[in-house]
Amino acid sequence: MAEKSFKYVIVGGGVSAGYAAREFVKQGVQPGELAIISKEAVCTYERPALSEAYLSPEGTARLPGFHVCVGSGGERLLPEWYTEKGISLILSTEIVKADLPTKTLISAAGDTFTYQILIIATGSAVIQLTDFGVKGADAKNIFYLREIDDADKLVEVIKAKSNGKAVIVGGGYIGLELSAALRVNNIDVKMVYPEPWCMPRLFTAGIAAFYESYYTNKGVDIIKGTVAVGFGTNENGEVTNVNLKDGRVLEADIVVVGVGGRPLTTLFKGQVEEEKGGIKTDAFFKTSLPDVYAVGDVATFPLKLFNEVRRVEHVDHARKSAEQAVKAIFASEKGTSIEEYDYLPYFYSRAFDLSWQFYGDNVGDSVLFGDSSPTSATHKFGSYWIKDGKVVGVFLESGTPEENKAIAKVARVQPPVDSLESLAAEGLAFASKI
Ligand SMILES: Cc1cc2nc3c(=O)[nH]c(=O)nc-3n(C[C@H](O)[C@H](O)[C@H](O)COP(=O)(O)OP(=O)(O)OC[C@H]3O[C@@H](n4cnc5c(N)ncnc54)[C@H](O)[C@@H]3O)c2cc1C
Repeated sequence: MAEKSFKYVIVGGGVSAGYAAREFVKQGVQPGELAIISKEAVCTYERPALSEAYLSPEGTARLPGFHVCVGSGGERLLPEWYTEKGISLILSTEIVKADLPTKTLISAAGDTFTYQILIIATGSAVIQLTDFGVKGADAKNIFYLREIDDADKLVEVIKAKSNGKAVIVGGGYIGLELSAALRVNNIDVKMVYPEPWCMPRLFTAGIAAFYESYYTNKGVDIIKGTVAVGFGTNENGEVTNVNLKDGRVLEADIVVVGVGGRPLTTLFKGQVEEEKGGIKTDAFFKTSLPDVYAVGDVATFPLKLFNEVRRVEHVDHARKSAEQAVKAIFASEKGTSIEEYDYLPYFYSRAFDLSWQFYGDNVGDSVLFGDSSPTSATHKFGSYWIKDGKVVGVFLESGTPEENKAIAKVARVQPPVDSLESLAAEGLAFASKI
């Protein structure tokens, strides 16, 4: 079995790994010093493309079009770029054992990798209905979406079942984006979720009311307040129907499940400190072990702006945490220091012809502003969250780049507000003057 040794190893080849690689090169990594080990067969790419442009009927997004760092307007790093820079991209290689005290990783094929400095960038895995023993959940044509192989399977089934029926289980990010993507592909779509409204972790009832009506007008049938408890199959083992807890039975040729993810930390259990379900780091993404860093979805880090530790499963943080960790590694080698990570949470989503952005924290009171009529041709609306007399979070649908910049600034500056009524009446104008 092969044994390879590198100065720096990144385990995981997703968004953070790609942005880390670019930062390693900026910092002057030498050929042969860095390896990225990834379970996936392709080099690092912008994962959010999988639920949006990848599934469009025109199939507009395909690799190599969306390798990192195009998602943030940067250079597209093709496999040749890694070769040119002397970075070893070790693909289709799953690490199955990590022994951090001896700085050793072992792959499923039995290869051994040793390192001086490790960056853990393993991201998240989807929660599967089979994990809860849901009857029939292992049927054919029940899909999840995390990696490019999953997206390829979806593209195939969308073609094979054209004009078919899909049931989307879950009303979060993936549920909303996938319902739209399948509807645009002319599939009959039903969405099922237990909560009183979609995306309850972020949306207020007022925000959700817009999206639910908009989706309904696009032909998506939304079924709330119940869950999928079983699936029926035909003689080929393909899904035929979804049984709901409230007794209803929905016909389905395709089922897509988006019920959340969990950070992939199992390899490191008991070897590094954990907190809030992730690997605990400092403001430089250093874990409790010397020479081991954790970035992206797996890291639980100090969120300075809110004075608490958090784990964030969003692409913007994956990019920025990776860059911060690499800068910190080089600073510590040079005996210099860098600023602490001072992150402003930023999430976004696009579906149909909608596009929203959110900055800050969705805690405290909230006010809705603008035109949130789902049938209005000029809909543009948002929400402010106010805590301790200050605006701490802002959401905006259909903002221009300047307006999105303005709401980001509000969330960062946290201006005081006198009255919620006048804030609601002022709406976007409040953000534009900060
Ligand atoms: C379909 C989809 C749509 C999304 N859309 C948005 C969006 O619109 N906006 C937003 O802010 N965020 C979005 N996200 C979330 C965002 O993509 C993630 O937060 C981000 O990718 C996290 O980056 P990461 O590097 O931590 O993990 P990932 O990008 O998931 O990369 C982890 C990598 O590690 C590999 N790996 C894991 N375990 C091992 C192992 N043992 N050995 C080797 N390799 C391993 C995985 O195969 C994967 O390649 C979306 C996620 C998905 C799945």
